[in-house]
Amino acid sequence: MQRSHDALKKPIIARCPNCEAPRLPHRMCSACGWYGDRTVVELDAE
Ligand SMILES: [Zn+2]
Repeated sequence: MQRSHDALKKPIIARCPNCEAPRLPHRMCSACGWYGDRTVVELDAE
């Protein structure tokens, strides 16, 4: 069994400029609701 295609996997991670949590690029930060240059969703702080 050859699995040479595994080498192409590369995680794409961006960091939230607001809270520095790792997140997907061009996605809202699930940690603080930050997207672009502002908070678009107010998340409840526990
Ligand atoms: Zn964030």
